[in-house]
Amino acid sequence: MSSPVWHPFTQHGLGEPIPLVTGAEGAALYTEDGRRIVDAISSWWVTTHGHGNKRIMAAIAEQAGKLDQIIFAGWTHEPAETLARGLVEIMPPALAHVFFSDSGSTSVEVALKMALGFWANRGEARHRIIVMEGSYHGDTIGAMSVGQRGVFNRPYAPLLFDVATLPFPAAGREQETLDALEALCHAPDAPAAFIVEPLILGAGGMLIYPPRLLAEMRAICARHGVLFIADEVMTGWGRTGTLLACEQAEIVPDILCLSKGLTGGAIPLAVTLATREIFAAHYSDDRTKQFFHSSSYTANPIACAAANANLAIWREEPVLDRVAALGRRQAERLARLQSPRIRNRRQIGTITALEIADEESSYMSALGPRLLAFFRERDLLLRPLGNTVYVMPPYCIDDADLDAIYGSIGEALDTL
Ligand code: PLP
Repeated sequence: MSSPVWHPFTQHGLGEPIPLVTGAEGAALYTEDGRRIVDAISSWWVTTHGHGNKRIMAAIAEQAGKLDQIIFAGWTHEPAETLARGLVEIMPPALAHVFFSDSGSTSVEVALKMALGFWANRGEARHRIIVMEGSYHGDTIGAMSVGQRGVFNRPYAPLLFDVATLPFPAAGREQETLDALEALCHAPDAPAAFIVEPLILGAGGMLIYPPRLLAEMRAICARHGVLFIADEVMTGWGRTGTLLACEQAEIVPDILCLSKGLTGGAIPLAVTLATREIFAAHYSDDRTKQFFHSSSYTANPIACAAANANLAIWREEPVLDRVAALGRRQAERLARLQSPRIRNRRQIGTITALEIADEESSYMSALGPRLLAFFRERDLLLRPLGNTVYVMPPYCIDDADLDAIYGSIGEALDTL
């Protein structure tokens, strides 16, 4: 009997195999038919320390014996309190308040609503959101609205709200981006906020821009009182070489979105951190000024326990050394790839990417599905974005698995 499951970002009509995974450990997935698959993209960028991390799994098991979901509106529990305190300690001091949700997309929705609530409660009519060309912030309506318009969201376009879009600061076009931001901030209908993926646009094609630009964009927003939202759902937790990508630009956002690696990738959880000013704008004896957002599973205790274990790993283990070593080990292998078809070879922290020259250079490039099948046949979980191949492995991956990944990319360059 065929499965009733409807998978995300999957065209069931193509009849592609959907492997049944029965176990996962470190950088490997194990399938029902006995295969060992190298998870070269950290299962959609969530797995940081590795699958089945013992400390995180033990924390989940222990918490599951104590307390399941409880309402979080007006009630609290120890795992959430510990996590909020732990996050405030490890994150930049200006980010003093922690709001829980369940996914990257919801952390973005929360960020946007916090920004609009901030202005509304202060009695200023600011609604417009500035975004960057090529961005991806999730698949809910608000998150899609602030993301790149295109094939991902065309059928829903009539529902998406209008935003102001900056050009991506490609090399040589940086000033254009900064000038556009300056002009938008000056406009008579002052914007409410600017939301951006710091240093690298993920689903938009693993496009990297330098910290200096991030710092300049942050400074422009600060000068004009435009709230700066950093979406570190992908970049957070060491992915770009530092705990947060924002650190490399020495900036602190007004609002910060985190998810994916927050629990080490074991279980869903997200947070949106905000400054004292943003919290204060909602703090009142007027009930209409409270922050009108919740979800049933806000601050799930089991997920919070997993995130607490992740924080303990960050405090007690040399995670950034592992990240730096993985960066070097990947850099060597990326540099060894030789082919006239390689375009725009690039790396930031644990993420490497390149484009394979093709007739079509886009997410819908026909090369994409061929690459997917090619890597699948070699027991590799790589999901190219069109003709862009990227690698973003768990930090525990060993040299043999990295060799298998880069060896197969080399083979794909030669044969496809
Ligand atoms: N923001 C960024 C930068 C992302 O990369 C993603 C997912 O890849 C999201 C938001 C959405 O996160 P989720 O898929 O958990 O809703």
